[in-house]
Amino acid sequence: MRYFFTFIVVFSLLFVSACTKEKPNSHSQLQKKSQNQKTHENPQSSQKDLHNIEKMNVSKNRNAVKTVAQPSAVNVLVNKKYFLPKNYVPKDLVYPTVSFIFKEKIEKRKMRKEAALALNKLFTGAKKDKIYLSGVSAYRSYVTQKAVFNRYVKEDGYENARKYSALPGSSEHQTGLAIDVSSSTGKCAAQSCFANTKEAKWLQSKSTNYGFIIRYPK
Ligand SMILES: [Zn+2]
Repeated sequence: MRYFFTFIVVFSLLFVSACTKEKPNSHSQLQKKSQNQKTHENPQSSQKDLHNIEKMNVSKNRNAVKTVAQPSAVNVLVNKKYFLPKNYVPKDLVYPTVSFIFKEKIEKRKMRKEAALALNKLFTGAKKDKIYLSGVSAYRSYVTQKAVFNRYVKEDGYENARKYSALPGSSEHQTGLAIDVSSSTGKCAAQSCFANTKEAKWLQSKSTNYGFIIRYPK
């Protein structure tokens, strides 16, 4: 029982828009995203934080957010209250053998070994049920998340960026244990419309068998 529980906590299977590069391009989309995003958003911040993302993560918000003590623990909890250390990079990142919606062997294809092996099994299991999945985005370093977030701030303003992008240090992607997935066609990749697909339904019923939980069900 304990083993099962641990595994559920261990990996996160993310497949909604909240944390990805796709920006909302319509009002309704933005709303949907906002509703689905509670755990992707970060601690409430004051205006003072606007130009001080870095500082906020490191020291200013010491009272509001905590830095996790054991970032490499497989059951690490990372969210708006618990941040990973800025310099944390998992030591056992590997490339899962599954297909992604892109070809390149780049950072976002990587996962920690244990998660990558579980993902391989999950994709194989899906195939047996004629469900064809693709990875969209897995590991993301602090530096990458920071660049992504800052770009959104520039384009959209801080408050809007916070609605669909995690502050650096608070993205589960930095754990190397989380991945966004889509169908092999890439349709609705990291968008809320994925929730209505047969692939999403399969994941909903089967992913815990492989140690994953779905973090953004809609
Ligand atoms: Zn994500």
